[in-house]
Amino acid sequence: MSNNNPIYVTQPHLPPLEEFIPYLKKIWDNKILTNGGPFHRQLESALCEYLGVEHLALFTNGTIALVTALQALRITGEVITTPYSFVATAHSLLWNGIKPVFVDIDPDTLNLDPAKIEAAITPQTTAIMPVHCYGHPCDVEAIQKIADNYNLKVIYDAAHAFGVQNDSGSVLRHGDLSVLSFHATKVFNTFEGGAIICPDAKTKLRIDQLKNFGFVDEVTVVAPGINGKMSEINAAFGMLQLEGVADVIAARKEIDHRYRKLLSGVKGIRCLGDAGEKVANYSYFPILVENDYPVTRDALYQALKDQNIFARRYFYPLITDFPMYRGLPSAHAGNLPVASEAARKVMCLPIYPSLTGEQVDTIAGVIAGFSK
Ligand SMILES: *Cc1c(COP(=O)(O)O)cnc(C)c1O
Repeated sequence: MSNNNPIYVTQPHLPPLEEFIPYLKKIWDNKILTNGGPFHRQLESALCEYLGVEHLALFTNGTIALVTALQALRITGEVITTPYSFVATAHSLLWNGIKPVFVDIDPDTLNLDPAKIEAAITPQTTAIMPVHCYGHPCDVEAIQKIADNYNLKVIYDAAHAFGVQNDSGSVLRHGDLSVLSFHATKVFNTFEGGAIICPDAKTKLRIDQLKNFGFVDEVTVVAPGINGKMSEINAAFGMLQLEGVADVIAARKEIDHRYRKLLSGVKGIRCLGDAGEKVANYSYFPILVENDYPVTRDALYQALKDQNIFARRYFYPLITDFPMYRGLPSAHAGNLPVASEAARKVMCLPIYPSLTGEQVDTIAGVIAGFSK
């Protein structure tokens, strides 16, 4: 049952190379390489349509988009966020001189627990930055209620939530801003890339200025903006990727369902459920290795590795375990029991369109093998 070819947690989706050549030809012909060229404009409107949102500003990557989103809303002081995420979530706060305040997560969704937010609010709190972890929507209603009561902004790190919908449509429409990542490892990729979903044209205009050094016109700079622009090559590639993204998500869905079926009877393995989303994107396949599983999460992780199967322990370590965060009062494990437990138990299994049913069976077989 050993694998000769390594299976990684993900493999970026690429369309056939020939299909990209005509896009490159166009760029070579018009010699517009960046600065909001034709592909950039096309991709912004195509994504708005696909995602069901009104305004969207493309970025060079998701992290610069997060940093800029905070700048656009002039966020300062303290921001409430989750320790259970990719480290860029909290890094975007430090890059703005903002103090992260970590709040524990919900055990069922692994998203920021709204019931614990209020206790962390201080006079310095200006915003909440939740993450739709693994593409499962946060409790957006409860979070908005708290934000309204305390006059806080909400910026969603929606890096995992491309195309996800809840009862009221796109989950990206919630909060003041939502930030996407189009990194190679994400459901929809432009090699590197990202976007901010904006509620109105005025906010998008400010964000477009901030991502272009703060320029308003040739001679006017209104803010210390950054260079966050997506290039024409990335935008053109995004146009091509968008054609295939529905198939990509459908293939992921099939793998998700196959894992669930194969693992449903395995004692001590819990597949994370959905969070009530109407349309999911199957961006990750996290399992929790519970205490009644015969071996530890790390032993299972190693056993898979020995078979050339490279699962990932997202999100271990927690953000709060990294040296630039662990000294913060909100970062100690006693404040974050649910996140600490999740970091100990969770493992993301390989999921990507070209993963075969046989490979899924092999992976699930290794996991089931221990509890026989
Ligand atoms: C990928 C990711 C980011 C960063 O996006 P980049 O495009 O890689 O800069 C931020 N937050 C989360 C939760 C992510 O998964």
